[in-house]
Amino acid sequence: MSYVIPVWNVPSVPVAGRNERFPVRHVYCVGRNYAEHAKEMGGDAAKEPPFFFTKSADAIVPVVAPEVGDVRYPPATKNYQHELELVVAIGSAGTKLAPENAREVIYGYAVGLDMTRRDLQNAMREIKRPWDIGKSFAEAAPIGPVHPVTQVGHLSRGRIALDVNGQPRQRGDLADMIWDVPHVLHFLSQYYELLPGDLVFTGTPAGVSAVVPGDELVGRIEGLGTLSIRIVPPR
Ligand code: MN
Repeated sequence: MSYVIPVWNVPSVPVAGRNERFPVRHVYCVGRNYAEHAKEMGGDAAKEPPFFFTKSADAIVPVVAPEVGDVRYPPATKNYQHELELVVAIGSAGTKLAPENAREVIYGYAVGLDMTRRDLQNAMREIKRPWDIGKSFAEAAPIGPVHPVTQVGHLSRGRIALDVNGQPRQRGDLADMIWDVPHVLHFLSQYYELLPGDLVFTGTPAGVSAVVPGDELVGRIEGLGTLSIRIVPPR
């Protein structure tokens, strides 16, 4: 096969404890999946079905501890925010999954950041236009290594925490999700066929805040280690 322009590499994430990498196909994200964060975003905590948005696969920035990844401050925003999230890595295809069977498609879990141009997201939301420019842009999805289920089991509880410059910002527990991972995959798979290589960002706990160049972010999820990034000046 030959192409009319140079072909780029398939986006991929290291797998903990292995030399092989996890190739990334789609990046799905869940909105407002922790009650306290839904409130800080101006919604309520009523248990409505989850809603979804996407990021481009090449928005991922793989970072392996103890490395601190450089993430460039994006253009066109004055309110660039962190959202620390549990990420589910899909290993096999599935559609219209029942919650009871949904875990069967999971290859592993990772720590991820759903970086957000909050001012653009809010502006688009107010005029009922798509969120894409607030959520999907270069380097919008830093992510740590994928930990296979065969090594870490399934995660349904555990501390999720993010510090900025050593100060606590986000604090929560995976058990506080409004919709747990099997239900997220159940709902998502009504709209899409989940495919090997898909990543699902499962929502963020309360405490999101703006960051600027020079800030250092350290995210942790119990059982999955840390994800550390430094915000660097725009190009
Ligand atoms: Mn998010």
